[in-house]
Amino acid sequence: MARCLIGCGANAGVPRDQLERAVELLRFMPGISLVAVSRPHRSAPVGGPAGQPPFLNGACLVETALGPRELLESLAAVENTLHRDRSVRWGPRTIDLDLLLYDDLVIDEPETEIAGRHHGALTVPHPRMATRRFVLEPCAEIAPEAVHPLSGCTVRELLDNISRPAVHVAVVGVPGSGAAEVAGAIADATLARLVRQPTPLPRGADPADWDAALGDWARVLSAERAAAHGADAGNDPGPVTVIADCWLGTLLVAAEGWLPPAPRAAFADRFATRAAAALAPGVAVVTVASAATLAERIAFRARRGDHTDLFRDTGVFGAGGTPESTAAELVALQQRLLERVQRRCADDDPLHRLRPPAVVVVPADDLGTAIAEGIAAVEAMT
Ligand code: ATP
Ligand code: CA
Ligand code: CA
Repeated sequence: MARCLIGCGANAGVPRDQLERAVELLRFMPGISLVAVSRPHRSAPVGGPAGQPPFLNGACLVETALGPRELLESLAAVENTLHRDRSVRWGPRTIDLDLLLYDDLVIDEPETEIAGRHHGALTVPHPRMATRRFVLEPCAEIAPEAVHPLSGCTVRELLDNISRPAVHVAVVGVPGSGAAEVAGAIADATLARLVRQPTPLPRGADPADWDAALGDWARVLSAERAAAHGADAGNDPGPVTVIADCWLGTLLVAAEGWLPPAPRAAFADRFATRAAAALAPGVAVVTVASAATLAERIAFRARRGDHTDLFRDTGVFGAGGTPESTAAELVALQQRLLERVQRRCADDDPLHRLRPPAVVVVPADDLGTAIAEGIAAVEAMT
């Protein structure tokens, strides 16, 4: 038997009745046994079209003999019975049932067509749960000790993480992924102080370049500076006080790929020292773009030079190689960055202190989408 957490939400029709009916339908589903149900929690809508009614959210803890896909299909069957309309992304709904956790499984399967049959995407843990107060509060009521297997944090710890008086949000991405643009938009939306990447990501194998960048980045991303800023901000600094368009960890992950072994080890030592005094993010928003998009942005930047602020972070990446070959290197870095920022790591890993408990990945081939998803992820914390 697997233990699973299911998130429920409704904001159309009569939300309280639909939540109750969904729970009753789950109770009588073959292969599912209900262990605990939270009380309903009210929340304001996040993302999606403006002017939606407020939500009622809840969570269920179940034990099941069903596999993750079968369980998701059962949830969809309950949604269909309750006339779920799926026409608008994050639009009003009579019921929404999300599979949040399935034991300690980590699943990331894209949408596929197998033998003519369509299989929807399946991602577990639910990819946006770690910054959503409306998800974590009901879950903490019934399963505070349930562990989120990617971060290694319990539900209670994830809720505490977004409940601090000031959360540092880092937007993490390779040059050209839109991290700078997304960070700027989130800072505008939340009135947070924006910290900009001070110098470009080094390219190549000269250790002096890496040391210079480490010094520059560590200076702007200093925990002491951020704390001083929080104290200055007055009575109500809001949930986010510092948003950065860079993450100190990106330097280490890039060095791991681009420096030869000996200088790489020496750099990791110096990195560990600087990381100890650096600002550790509570939340990372990771911008992920395709190779084609990155190549297009590098080429755009090279053509426009200083005549635009867009994709300024591609800086040195326009020089040497074709946009396509550079983009291929950046995609490889992006993959390692995703892995390193999301997965828990050993206590003696230099990244350990800098790894955020909550990570939300946003697709960034379209900047408008990336910005909307980044803002929604941060607004869901309140
Ligand atoms: P969000 O996922 O941000 O909460 P939503 O619940 O409104 O948004 P839906 O339209 O209900 O999104 O679902 C979009 C797709 O996500 C569905 O096709 C579903 O198959 C897929 N999906 C992938 N993983 C999960 C999961 N863990 N739980 C629920 N749906 C999932
Ligand atoms: Ca949902
Ligand atoms: Ca859903």
